[in-house]
Amino acid sequence: MTTEFINQNLETLYSAEQIKSRVQELGKQITNDYADKDLVLVGVLKGSCVFMADLMREIDLKLSIDFMAVSSYKDGTVSTGDVEILKDLTNPIRDKDVIVCEDIVDTGLTLFRLTEILGSRGASSIKIATLLDKPEPRIKKELEIDYCGFQIPNRFVVGYGLDAAGRYRNLPFIAAVRNPAEI
Ligand code: 5GP
Repeated sequence: MTTEFINQNLETLYSAEQIKSRVQELGKQITNDYADKDLVLVGVLKGSCVFMADLMREIDLKLSIDFMAVSSYKDGTVSTGDVEILKDLTNPIRDKDVIVCEDIVDTGLTLFRLTEILGSRGASSIKIATLLDKPEPRIKKELEIDYCGFQIPNRFVVGYGLDAAGRYRNLPFIAAVRNPAEI
């Protein structure tokens, strides 16, 4: 992966500096909202790992973290809304205030189902923090997003945790892919 290749096929949407400053804002907001709560950040692997690592360090509260991995069943390229839990939480969330951290919300179906599953486990509250939201292709479930980094157009993006066939998660910025066939 050469720098030249990145320049040709990737169009930067948000620089590392822009992301940092937006994540700081979200961290401040969460710090204010959760001052007297028992906060658990739940990261949805693998895409949220970079976002969550930065976000948690901008939250000035005692909190704990946990992770889940899910696979969404797709009908072609469209999510069906069924999810399989590949890795479950390590600790119970009963009576906890949960913020689910996601990399990107596309149709919203994966997160809708995931919050239903977590909601059945007795959490005091469940909210959603996503780095990116594609509002356009939301096809079925209306999903309430409580904390959103950026709303983006309906393009395929990589970087800052988001992958293309497992790669590009380590890019420090977020880029749209010009030619997905060449990624
Ligand atoms: P949803 O159920 O909201 O349609 O699916 C969201 C999931 O699809 C995200 O967690 C992510 O794994 C994947 N996804 C959706 N759009 C993109 C994108 O533009 N780039 C990448 N890398 N993954 C995406």
